[in-house]
Amino acid sequence: MFLACPNRCSVNRFELWNASVFTDSLGRYLEHRAEQAPLYRCTACGSPAVDLGSVARTLAEEEQAEAGAVQDYACPSCEELFRAPAGQNPVVCPACGETYPVGG
Ligand SMILES: [Zn+2]
Ligand SMILES: [Zn+2]
Repeated sequence: MFLACPNRCSVNRFELWNASVFTDSLGRYLEHRAEQAPLYRCTACGSPAVDLGSVARTLAEEEQAEAGAVQDYACPSCEELFRAPAGQNPVVCPACGETYPVGG
């Protein structure tokens, strides 16, 4: 994860938006539990922060797919062997048209 403000604020301070924060009876911070997809916002301008880390990862995957990386698959329905772009999910069997998700 690498959070950044879309308005390019330079404070680099972000507030967890949708997480539960637990304190003891004196209000002292104990722990926080992030939601499935934690949201953060910039403390300077209040804009939702963007996660540059996940953007970079997505770009790398797209580049790999564009570079023509292919993966061999065997259709679970008709056992046809075929190739599909490595980033593609689900894949479609060219022989019978079966569409199925692939791992990884
Ligand atoms: Zn900001
Ligand atoms: Zn098939």
